[in-house]
Amino acid sequence: MAIDDSPSSFFSPWPERLRHSAIILLAAGLALSVLVAFGEFPPIGAAMVFACIAAAALVPWRLHHVAASHEDVRGGNPVEAAAVSAVVAGMPDPAVLLDRAGRVIHLNAAAAQLAPALRKNELAQFALRSPEIITALREAIATSEPRRTSYLDQVPVDRWMELIITPVPVPTLFGGAEKCMLMTFHDQTPLRRVEEMRADFVANASHELRTPLAALSGFIDTLQGPAKDDARARERFLGIMHTQATRMARLIDDLLSLSRVELSAHVRPDTLIDLVPIIRQVADGLEPLARERQVVIQIDLPETPVAIAGDREELLRLFENLIENALKYGASGGKVIVSLSSASSGEGAPEYRVMVRDFGPGIAPEHLPRLTERFYRVDVGDSRNQGGTGLGLSLVKHILARHRGRLLIESVPRNGATFTACFPQVRPSVAG
Ligand code: ADP
Repeated sequence: MAIDDSPSSFFSPWPERLRHSAIILLAAGLALSVLVAFGEFPPIGAAMVFACIAAAALVPWRLHHVAASHEDVRGGNPVEAAAVSAVVAGMPDPAVLLDRAGRVIHLNAAAAQLAPALRKNELAQFALRSPEIITALREAIATSEPRRTSYLDQVPVDRWMELIITPVPVPTLFGGAEKCMLMTFHDQTPLRRVEEMRADFVANASHELRTPLAALSGFIDTLQGPAKDDARARERFLGIMHTQATRMARLIDDLLSLSRVELSAHVRPDTLIDLVPIIRQVADGLEPLARERQVVIQIDLPETPVAIAGDREELLRLFENLIENALKYGASGGKVIVSLSSASSGEGAPEYRVMVRDFGPGIAPEHLPRLTERFYRVDVGDSRNQGGTGLGLSLVKHILARHRGRLLIESVPRNGATFTACFPQVRPSVAG
């Protein structure tokens, strides 16, 4: 066992104790000498008494000193031990303090939950399942160097954990310090998920941009080569190129809108906006598309203003996405109803609901929970043919989240789909 006897160690009381013993011995020696000098005490008796006092003063010090060189930190100073235990217990992440042999000295509740087989005074290696932990622990004990490792914890659910082992000097009862090992565990699962999402997002966005880009460069090659002098082909290809360029522009537009809304997600809009004219403006703007798809837009809005705390541009974008989707994917139903009503949320709070209902093919139930994921489409080909980017409903969800609202999606296959945007009603004090 390594005991740190350096002058800088946390406790170094023994030389002082030795000094105390020397003072006691000196005082006893003086007193006995005076008694012997005055003939009050026989010299033999005085020598024996002095020997007893010397033993009483020096033997415990010697015993402590011998013990200190073989001491186990688990028998530490009660105040120190309590402090170390409190620090370990107070750590928010699972934490375990081990001695040099790998025996558990302290562990907190989070660690007991993570590894229920860990027991105080028992070797941690026997209680920890993952080979990565055991290897890191062995290395840290052998080298007294910090170690860091990651592993997949599969019980009760899959979690990516990071283990950091840090050698820490813990004060012992007899001065000096024992090099113990502090193991702390950190749940990396949320970080990994975000990282995976980011990687998926970049891959999806690049793929979505590369497809129209490949089409554009293909047509440019054709127009420069085989179709150079073919006026009819040129007209047709230019038309397709225009569509592809529009698709790319739309994708970039949607990506930028999404990142803007995400950036301001924590700032709730505070301008009072009347929903009625906004919905009307969007429906009017989509009238040409409705005519092209032979769909009638039926609007059912109150006569009086319906104000919410909102962002005008974002609300325009939200309703445009919902109504346009209904016209594109639900066109076969021939009718789209847009209505606004007052209702109460699950928790009883008053809210306004804007319902966009179509009578098209609807959506199979297994797709409903994933519709608001970025780039998720029920039918990728259909979405692309309609000029879709797969980002519309994701944008809708984020805009609603910023407005502290929510999106409800209901669908009966072959009987259309209903998308409902719910907004909390502003309190009269705010509205006034
Ligand atoms: P897109 O740009 O593809 O329209 P969205 O995020 O707006 O992306 O929609 C995601 C998918 O949800 C669409 O590709 C489509 O498959 C499905 N969808 C959206 N609205 C409707 C609807 N009213 N009826 C049927 N399917 C819909």
